[in-house]
Amino acid sequence: MRLALFILAVVVLLWLVRGAVRRRAAAPRSKPADTSTAAAPQPMLTCAHCGLHLPRDEALPGRGGVFCGDAHRKAFEQTDDVR
Ligand SMILES: [Zn+2]
Repeated sequence: MRLALFILAVVVLLWLVRGAVRRRAAAPRSKPADTSTAAAPQPMLTCAHCGLHLPRDEALPGRGGVFCGDAHRKAFEQTDDVR
């Protein structure tokens, strides 16, 4: 009878440990995926030269606004100097 209780206790313990390990293994995988797919929405900015809409992280700040790239920033600043 003692042996049966011991085996039952071991089985229950293994079952609990397995559940905890599964929960721990599943949690880190789902959390980064959630943050990357459901990232905070970024404000969209407009290139002052061509009017392209782009996320704030990709916009290049310059004189007279933000730009989609270095070429457009240079082009805008050159045309701005002429005026
Ligand atoms: Zn542009």
